[in-house]
Amino acid sequence: MRAASGTARDILTIQHAILTDDTLLASVGARLRDGVAPDMAWRTMLEAEIASYRMASDPMFRARAADFEDVRDRVLEALAGLQHQPVIPTGVVYCAADITPRTFLAHDWTGGGIALGGGGPLAHVTALARQRGVPMLTGLVAGDQCGPDARLHLPETGTPVLLDADAGEMFVAYATKSRTRRDTPLPRPAPPAIAPLPADVTLMVNVSTVDDLAGIAPGGWRGVGLVRTEFLFAGKPSDETDQLNAFRKLLAHANGQPVIIRLFDHGGDKPGPDDVRNGMDRTSNPLLGMRGIRRILAQPDDIVPQLRALLRAAADGDIRILVPMVTHPGEVDAVSSLVADEARALAAAGMAHRVPPLGIMVEVPAAALTLERFAAADFFSIGTNDLAQYTLAIGRDEPHLAHRLRADDPAVLALIGMCVRAAAAMGKPINLCGEAAGDATQIEALFDAGVRSFSVAPASFAAASHALAACRHRQADVKEV
Ligand code: PEP
Ligand code: MG
Repeated sequence: MRAASGTARDILTIQHAILTDDTLLASVGARLRDGVAPDMAWRTMLEAEIASYRMASDPMFRARAADFEDVRDRVLEALAGLQHQPVIPTGVVYCAADITPRTFLAHDWTGGGIALGGGGPLAHVTALARQRGVPMLTGLVAGDQCGPDARLHLPETGTPVLLDADAGEMFVAYATKSRTRRDTPLPRPAPPAIAPLPADVTLMVNVSTVDDLAGIAPGGWRGVGLVRTEFLFAGKPSDETDQLNAFRKLLAHANGQPVIIRLFDHGGDKPGPDDVRNGMDRTSNPLLGMRGIRRILAQPDDIVPQLRALLRAAADGDIRILVPMVTHPGEVDAVSSLVADEARALAAAGMAHRVPPLGIMVEVPAAALTLERFAAADFFSIGTNDLAQYTLAIGRDEPHLAHRLRADDPAVLALIGMCVRAAAAMGKPINLCGEAAGDATQIEALFDAGVRSFSVAPASFAAASHALAACRHRQADVKEV
């Protein structure tokens, strides 16, 4: 606060006064002693204050309500373990224990990178970094030590570091004397050329924002295999028009190719826009709780604007809807009926729309083991990030076991092979859109398991195309022998 001046100082002074107000703290304390959860106690008390300031006749007091709202949300964020957005200058390597998807999306990473003591290669924020080509290291350990006690002491702010994401290394406090200062980012090597793909192999791209797709050169990719809509608006609320505009832009960039758009997959490590205010999932394992389709069906009104936007955009191009975290066939029926309701409402209002194909993510063993029960779906998309997590009982953001969280683990591969055969028996398309598809060390095993359609982060596209071309050559060589 001492470093602030002017209006910033005034605001901080007021917020400090709110946070140290004896009457307020005593009321919150009394509720805590009554056994009320901390977030609930804080929210209830602050909302009572906010309501009384809003009703004040003096406009100066009414304006104070916004300060209380800000303090309410920042404390709730802290209680939920979400950091308030840190200020990250451009061009630096952000070193921290972890980073939320929201912080990642709020920052321009041009010329910079990320080094985390925690996290994992399959964490959602890592997928975002991969999509954007932002250099990122997770689960850093010091020197050649390993194991839980070897966590890196993260460098102090201002320490020079060299981050080599390809080699998986970061050099801390390297010799600075010979370092030349650059005001412009280092020139990047030209992206590798895309290898021609075998005729029976399809390679698509995964995106999280409209800009991700706008930055991809045309050619090679056969559509968008996964749009993670929970990141499209950087975690902020969006209405039907915002979403319709975004979907239309994606269609325009895809230029006639399919765009597979996943319904919101909020929950777990992907909080929805209202989570901070309403209280995060406090169960001991949110990834096994109200996530994806479970959450959609628990609050069906929240998905209506997205469904309407999808149906309306589908009138303009090849949109397909993907449902996340499906474990039970009834969930597909329930989404179909929500889609049918919205189609009827749009028809009654005379608005152009089309009911697009409806597919499911196969990312939970329950679905993978019994895919034939999901014949109501029009297509399938294997999510190896979650399928590996739920099969191997290793969290996506678990840094110590990250090396074992792989789609080419025999148990996960067995499930993938079952899914490919079940989809073929049903005559339905099946794609694989987890991060493993973009990992040249795993793609061969996925190809051998029978997968022929993949969707990868744009930054992994060229490498995946070469690995797939090599798979086909290897197969041809084996036949010749
Ligand atoms: C997956 O689980 O593999 C997947 C593609 O979905 P997400 O990473 O967004 O959970
Ligand atoms: Mg998933």
